Amino acid sequence: MSDPQHILEHVFGYDSFRGPQQAIIEALVRGDDALVIMPTGGGKSLCYQIPSLAREGCGVVISPLIALMQDQVDALKELGVRAGFLNSSLSSAEASATEQALLSGELDLLYIAPERLVQSRCQSLLQQAKLSLFAIDEAHCVSQWGHDFRSDYLQLSLLHELFPTVPRIALTATADARTQKEIAERLQLTEAEHFLGGFDRPNIQYRIQHKDKPRQQLLQFLRTEHPQHAGIVYCLSRKKVEQTAEWLSKEGFTALPYHAGLPATLKQTHQRRFLREESVIIVATIAFGMGIDKPDVRFVVHLDLPKSVEAYYQETGRAGRDGDAATALLLYGLEDVVKLGQMLGNSDGNDVFKRHERQRLDAMLGLCEITSCRRQVLLRYFGEQSSPCGNCDNCISPAETWDGTDASRKLLSCIYRTGQRYGANHVIEVLRGSSNEKVMQAGHSAISTYGIGKELSNNEWRSVVRQLVAQGLIDVNADAFGALQLNDSCRALLRGEQTLQLRRDKQITASASPAKRVQSNIDEQDMPLWHDLRACRKRLADEHQVPPYVVFHDATLIEMVQKRPTTKQAMLTITGVGDSKLERFGKDFIDVILEHEYRQLEGTSL
Ligand code: ADP
Ligand code: ZN
Repeated sequence: MSDPQHILEHVFGYDSFRGPQQAIIEALVRGDDALVIMPTGGGKSLCYQIPSLAREGCGVVISPLIALMQDQVDALKELGVRAGFLNSSLSSAEASATEQALLSGELDLLYIAPERLVQSRCQSLLQQAKLSLFAIDEAHCVSQWGHDFRSDYLQLSLLHELFPTVPRIALTATADARTQKEIAERLQLTEAEHFLGGFDRPNIQYRIQHKDKPRQQLLQFLRTEHPQHAGIVYCLSRKKVEQTAEWLSKEGFTALPYHAGLPATLKQTHQRRFLREESVIIVATIAFGMGIDKPDVRFVVHLDLPKSVEAYYQETGRAGRDGDAATALLLYGLEDVVKLGQMLGNSDGNDVFKRHERQRLDAMLGLCEITSCRRQVLLRYFGEQSSPCGNCDNCISPAETWDGTDASRKLLSCIYRTGQRYGANHVIEVLRGSSNEKVMQAGHSAISTYGIGKELSNNEWRSVVRQLVAQGLIDVNADAFGALQLNDSCRALLRGEQTLQLRRDKQITASASPAKRVQSNIDEQDMPLWHDLRACRKRLADEHQVPPYVVFHDATLIEMVQKRPTTKQAMLTITGVGDSKLERFGKDFIDVILEHEYRQLEGTSL
């Protein structure tokens, strides 16, 4: 058995464990089971990869993400790990070669699709092999409540019965307490040690703005902050995904659509291009993202409101896994609340389920409208306490507030006077004294609240509505086309027993938030070296048929620029350079650095 620290340094090229990694690895090496809840990008893979290498035998990883297995295995092979996979994409000759390798002890890690694992043929294969552990990745797929449910996952409890001495680790980024309990019960992991934590992703800058002119907002964001970067843009509907991708392409970006309605081959091509090429933007529904471990995603934009804080955290977590600065931008409007409410109303599921989902949506809405640190609220949601972060919109540029008591009361009484049957647009028209047809026909120019709110603009009124909805003072009735209705809790305000501070909407732009960018770590005179190292990486990646980040992450190249290692020994001290990669790629990068050193010497002696 090898020592985990030694494996961390020599195989992966990292010098220290992150968060709970070490404790998890030690538990498995001892032979105990573990249930791991860690955010996306938290470093879950090492938690089973290192024990697989440290223990005798082969580690079996169960993952529903067939399309990604090849890439995962390729990346491990570059690290010198003997890895393979078994799924329906293999020919029978390829599959039996892998099976043979397993039986003769030539594999460290084997990825298997759940539908294969539940077959008796596969089980008897595994029974003949020496196994070090089972890792059940994306373990929330066992939950019947979630949208990722896979029926094959239910049968994974048989692992415990068939292989009682092989330790098991289940991993997920879904932190919801109910899902967690369900995973533990269904996978027979109630006795397992639970590891929870490390939820903060300090390099991600969270920003939430109201949707004013979303396309313009997005364009400005991309052009000023992320012109050449890879990123994900999430939309609610398939149609909007397609339209947005098409429009971004016209604006000169490489933007590819991805949703469950596209042909499988197209989805695969787009996913592959996103992983392999640099600066590709994927425009997607939530169908995209699970298991995508591209480390250099620099931004995640939501053009529609996610349906819960958890979904938001999971989706934004796909940005900046390499630890470099990344941005999460959410644009939301009142119409999102209506749309999500309607979808919820039309969904299958009993009342308890719907009430639960409604609460989750309300919590998301609350996050959008708060004036304090966003990260604090996010982390509190996952049970972690923290101080204001300095890297969210509210910290960077503290929200201005104003006394909205009067305005709120006007709004509430106008909703009441118009019969609680109208949406925000109409109510605002009445408040502002509009003489449009709908207002006139409804006879609303004659009521007492007509024209009493001319002092605020349409947008300002919409902001008041959103905030009162977020505070639960009014409800949006999704069954009645988004009609605004009074909630009992607004009484105190109506009676004048309560005052209300509201936040003022504003747009935060790049100039207000000079997010630390990758290149800002590199001095101007080092740029030629940086570009040459990147070119070297691209050439090697193409030769090995892997994405550039599988050769080395940006952070590794930046460290090379700063430290200029010119010997193998010095190269090995760079984060992300382990024995295997040193062997494969070390010389090429050292040559690039030497070349620059010589040129510099020549330059100074002239
Ligand atoms: P998750 O599966 O939890 O979403 P990953 O396992 O893909 O996250 O890890 C995210 C990134 O962090 C990867 O690029 C990985 O190489 C890196 N990483 C993980 N653990 C460490 C560590 N101890 N030191 C440095 N980098 C790490
Ligand atoms: Zn903050």
